[in-house]
Amino acid sequence: MSTQGFSLEPNANPKPANIRATTLENPGFGRFFTDHMAHVRWTSDAGWHGHRVCPYGPLTLDPAASVLHYAQEIFEGIKAYRHADGSVWTFRPEKNAARFRASARRLALPELSDDDFVGAIKALVAQDVDWVPTPASEADESSLYLRPFMIASEAFLGVRPANEVDFYVIASPVAAYFKGGVKPVSIWLSSNYKRASQGGTGFAKCGGNYAASLVAQREAAEHGCDQVAFLDAAENTWIEELGGMNLFFVTRDGRLVTPRLTGTILDGVTRDSLLQLARDEGLTPEERPISIDEWRDGVASGEIIEVFACGTAAVITPIGKLISEDATLEHPQGNEVAARLRKRLLDIQYGRAEDVHGWLTKLA
Ligand SMILES: *Cc1c(COP(=O)(O)O)cnc(C)c1O
Repeated sequence: MSTQGFSLEPNANPKPANIRATTLENPGFGRFFTDHMAHVRWTSDAGWHGHRVCPYGPLTLDPAASVLHYAQEIFEGIKAYRHADGSVWTFRPEKNAARFRASARRLALPELSDDDFVGAIKALVAQDVDWVPTPASEADESSLYLRPFMIASEAFLGVRPANEVDFYVIASPVAAYFKGGVKPVSIWLSSNYKRASQGGTGFAKCGGNYAASLVAQREAAEHGCDQVAFLDAAENTWIEELGGMNLFFVTRDGRLVTPRLTGTILDGVTRDSLLQLARDEGLTPEERPISIDEWRDGVASGEIIEVFACGTAAVITPIGKLISEDATLEHPQGNEVAARLRKRLLDIQYGRAEDVHGWLTKLA
């Protein structure tokens, strides 16, 4: 049997239905994985080949595989949502496919076609469709989180782009990213660390960016904060984003402002979707540089009425506090715009509102 040109090697020992049911009741985030994964191999001689869905399990990698030494790796994050009629959909996968290609170019990895990227997701979800959670209510934000990734697997310690590469998609049933409903998070403003710089890899979704941000995330936790915000590396002035989420500011006069993409900021699918939804919600979207002073002064004066972070994993998360070495800035409590945009986006993703922008792709 095959789907989307992917051959199937079924898992001979899938998790029993009762174990799966217990997992789906309380999946957490990224702790449990489905019975299968999708795999496509690339060599410089043969190109992409060997499309298959196979049992989920440990990879066999040569200890000299270049990903382990030089971090030639990229990834994506995208979800599958079960609608009330049982069908399963994903959200703007062509945006993730295009971003994955942009990341691949930056990391000197081979580009994967939309057909292979979306095909791998379709083939995997078709096989593991029973792992897509059925939300119990509108408040239940469970979904199947899909993690496509590409690694340089050639065994070679010389420094050059690898001639052997593997692409995989794994899947993990997830509940809401932050436990206990939508609560405002506290943000640590990093002064010791930068996430990205001009000409670097900030726009690429690569593991290396995350590795470089972990020490700042730990510093945030040491200051009692949930997440870390980064300023630009050149001037230490301009707001970029969090370690894994984009930032938005809502002004008193109805503008929805987010930092312009300058090459150091990740082009989030959620960010792009909110810029489009803004107009439907009577807001004026604005992409431009925003300084740390504008954030601080705007919240203090009441010009900025809400600040929130967004991404596929956590959707929209309001920001309650900005903490730095010298000051703590409390934000207003309401967060009504964030709540409205959040509901609008989730309603589209879960099929409760009309998909007016044509963002959904059926998977099963
Ligand atoms: C993935 C990611 C985001 C959010 O992107 P989405 O496509 O909305 O999930 C934002 N910033 C960084 C650094 C990311 O890696």
